[in-house]
Amino acid sequence: MPVVDFHVHMAYYHSYTAGYVEFLMRQRGETPEEVVARYGTPEKVLAFLDESGVDVAVLLAEMSPITTGIIDSDYVAAFCRGSRRLIPFASVNPRTAPDPVKELRRAVTVLGCRGLKLYPTYQMFYPNDPMVYPLYAVCRELGIPVMLHTGSSVFPGSRLKYGDPLFLDDVAVDFPDLTIVMAHCGRPFWYDRAFALARLHRNIYLDVTGLPPQKLPIYFPEFERLAEKWIFGSDWPGVPDIQKNIATIRGLPWSEDTKQKLLYENAARLLRLA
Ligand SMILES: [Zn+2]
Repeated sequence: MPVVDFHVHMAYYHSYTAGYVEFLMRQRGETPEEVVARYGTPEKVLAFLDESGVDVAVLLAEMSPITTGIIDSDYVAAFCRGSRRLIPFASVNPRTAPDPVKELRRAVTVLGCRGLKLYPTYQMFYPNDPMVYPLYAVCRELGIPVMLHTGSSVFPGSRLKYGDPLFLDDVAVDFPDLTIVMAHCGRPFWYDRAFALARLHRNIYLDVTGLPPQKLPIYFPEFERLAEKWIFGSDWPGVPDIQKNIATIRGLPWSEDTKQKLLYENAARLLRLA
């Protein structure tokens, strides 16, 4: 059964906050420089994905100078360019980009990015802020998914109020043809909300990144009722061991069909993998 990891961060950032450096040390016992030395090239990342049993990975740009750091869409797109297995997602910070719409259009049409990642709790906006609507309109027009961080974060400076999944109700209603991926399922206060929204709205998906996989049947007792909505992601390199999470999922008491949808099929559909 092939695997898509829909939520992978870059080893190299143009700049890291002190909070992000501390986080890497705590999670991996490595400095950013050490992580870059091990995984700073596409070849090294692909070798690690092979070891981990991941066939295709979505690599995320991140323009979050307050909380984590900066790695731009140009860098991520260039990193992915030589491999069909690495899929770049753009990052546009609606508060700091001089022309967010122009930047997103360029990231997709010129650089080849195949999705947009927004970080409301790091970039300080509500997902239903009218300021962000032009970006949603571009995603819909270009036929790419938008992924938004929801729920909590450990990085100093994050503002969790922006992570409430309920704000995505407006977005789903106003953009019924836009594919919305809810990263982290509103952890840990809003699992019920995230689930209810994904059930209600045809265009909302749930990315289980960062949730302990063995807890998924407890957090979501009706997980299998929404089998076509789940997306697997790892949050690597902050979460070092992807393989273990995949193995845990394969051992959960769900049907093979549900597991296959979570680990591969749903993501493959959103990413239009052949
Ligand atoms: Zn992440």
